[in-house]
Amino acid sequence: MVINDLKQVCPQCRGMGFQAGISRMGISEPNVGGKCPKCAGRGFLLTSLGRDLVDLLRPFMAELIEERARARERGVPAGGVPATDKSGGEV
Ligand SMILES: [Zn+2]
Repeated sequence: MVINDLKQVCPQCRGMGFQAGISRMGISEPNVGGKCPKCAGRGFLLTSLGRDLVDLLRPFMAELIEERARARERGVPAGGVPATDKSGGEV
């Protein structure tokens, strides 16, 4: 599998993720913020295989985010290991 199996260059912005203007009902308007509306500024679109991979990883990403939020609540720096007392329990 190669990365191009998972994503394709956005045909609207040609991979730039930026679009200066948009056309609505034949009238050109400035695009506030400049993000390409088709790819949300990413510059690429996921293929069906790419969407499957994201769906597969989504529960793991959610778990990681929750873990980081819990660590932040306990005052542990992101990626840090919680401090332990002499008995090995978390402080
Ligand atoms: Zn785009």
